[in-house]
Amino acid sequence: MHGPSPGTVSMNAREATSPHTPSRADAEAAVRTLILWAGEDPEREGLQDTPSRVTRAYEAFFAGYQEDPDALLATTFEEAGDFDDMVLVRNIRFESHCEHHLVPIIGMVHVAYLPHRRVVGLSKIARVVDVYARRMQIQERLTSQIAQTLHDALQPRGVAVVIDAQHLCMTTRGVHKPASSTLTQRWIGDFKTDPHLRRDFWQGVGSRPATGGSA
Ligand SMILES: [Zn+2]
Repeated sequence: MHGPSPGTVSMNAREATSPHTPSRADAEAAVRTLILWAGEDPEREGLQDTPSRVTRAYEAFFAGYQEDPDALLATTFEEAGDFDDMVLVRNIRFESHCEHHLVPIIGMVHVAYLPHRRVVGLSKIARVVDVYARRMQIQERLTSQIAQTLHDALQPRGVAVVIDAQHLCMTTRGVHKPASSTLTQRWIGDFKTDPHLRRDFWQGVGSRPATGGSA
């Protein structure tokens, strides 16, 4: 449900060889069409290179389709001794794009897990966040994918993922609510069943929503 099995590299449209795969020139032509549709002249000096810039920006925004998040967590360590307390990585800033408007989602992810014999390099957790963030997303799925990938790779006693993010499609267009942010939570294992663990998580994160952090 979240990418291919470890060892395989996911193919995105740019690598695939299907006859339906658009070329870079096709992608640039599409951007030119959008510029025209917005009421501009794509031949105007300032806009001449914009289609190629936008196409390259898309490569960066959506680079996550080229990476396999399971492979990132393929190397785990069993030398953490009897450490089985919560590992919490907080304030992982991310940038994603909403799949409804292709407008940025910018926020923070807090990830915790309760190791069961295995731990993983902390930077790998941040990289898993980036792989999923650099795809077309909704915040709910992004939250679940990060949690499920950690759960599958580490088989820990529990995983907690909380995302607090601003959706620019909501702050700069549509309903125009600039101060709004959206909080999503995914609890797996002991975090789901034990409210004390969720309390410890929120204390560790250093903030606590009005709901008290219950599932
Ligand atoms: Zn949106």
